Amino acid sequence: MNPFQPFGLKRVINASGKMTALGGSAVQPEVAQAMAEAAQDYVEIDQLLVAAGREIAKATGAEDGCPTTGAAAGMAIATAAVIAGTNLQRIEQLPVSAGLPNEIVLQKGHAVHFGAAITQMIALGGGKPVEVGHANHTERAHFEEAINERTAALLFVQSHHAVQKGVQSLETLRDIASARGIPLIVDAAAEEDMRKYVALGADLVCYSGGKALGGPTSGFVCGRKDLIEACRAQYKGIGRAMKVGKEAIVGLLTALRQYGESEEAGESQKRRMEQFLALLEGVPGIKGGIARDESGRAIYRAKLEIDPAKAGLTAKQLIRQLESGDPAIYTRNHYSNVGIVFVDPRPLLPDQECIIAERIRDIVTGGITS
Ligand SMILES: *Cc1c(COP(=O)(O)O)cnc(C)c1O
Repeated sequence: MNPFQPFGLKRVINASGKMTALGGSAVQPEVAQAMAEAAQDYVEIDQLLVAAGREIAKATGAEDGCPTTGAAAGMAIATAAVIAGTNLQRIEQLPVSAGLPNEIVLQKGHAVHFGAAITQMIALGGGKPVEVGHANHTERAHFEEAINERTAALLFVQSHHAVQKGVQSLETLRDIASARGIPLIVDAAAEEDMRKYVALGADLVCYSGGKALGGPTSGFVCGRKDLIEACRAQYKGIGRAMKVGKEAIVGLLTALRQYGESEEAGESQKRRMEQFLALLEGVPGIKGGIARDESGRAIYRAKLEIDPAKAGLTAKQLIRQLESGDPAIYTRNHYSNVGIVFVDPRPLLPDQECIIAERIRDIVTGGITS
């Protein structure tokens, strides 16, 4: 069954990752059912937001939490919260923030693009991003010297998109922020560990509900009680343009309750990819292996090295063939320019790895290159 077929869309097999361009996550049946039931009924939204805060607190170890449409909205709302607090006049004037402390200080290597620019999300919340240091080198002094009476918060981006070397650590930013009496915001959108950054002392942490958590398109901010109350208050301001529905909130909370019950995930992913590679044995010009995620997360992917001389086509040609078929197959292609294609087991539905293996075999042995 392809739910998008009535609208003229072909089936997609996602071997790429939790990609917004492919719809984020496919949720578990329990999550889908909770969402369907919530969609068909009513609730007091203010109370739902408070109850969601309790659930998010339980899952993250934070004092409180606030659901959002995604981590990007979380960044805009967290920014607005540190600038306007719960002051209604300020909430209603954002994103116009002239005269208010509105500077959000981050290191240049953290000014990432995740499909959109994080600095734009800061601006949506009324913040003025202040990038310090250099693309691959930031010192503590860069932060110390940038802080002044207009500073609203420091921002740390924990992400595979961010520069990993030559940057100041989260602990250093936390120490600077607390010594200067300003909050530290962390963007941990795609991170698996829902407790780590709160435990390290961040004041607000933004997560995506549709990435590691495997929930619906949604997200949350968690952290300090007073700041989370300020986050919720932004739904009378810029947050209204990012309204999160009851069904998404209930889906998010259901996914949060289930999260962590599958600690075995890494090992079973590895086994599944080994079975996938076995199906490709004997296909000329394709060398398979298992590769762990480069940011150290317990994610194991199949790594296919394509030798064009033997396979008769390049990695990019293979990718084009896979994407243009029906079903369309999307692999993980960050290294396609050096002839490497990854297959990510996390978003695959049962047995889809067999369809992918069969298709690769057909493409390579069928000699299709265009
Ligand atoms: C994906 C991502 C976001 C945006 O998350 P959404 O839930 O899609 O809004 C923000 N920051 C980083 C670092 C990301 O990887």
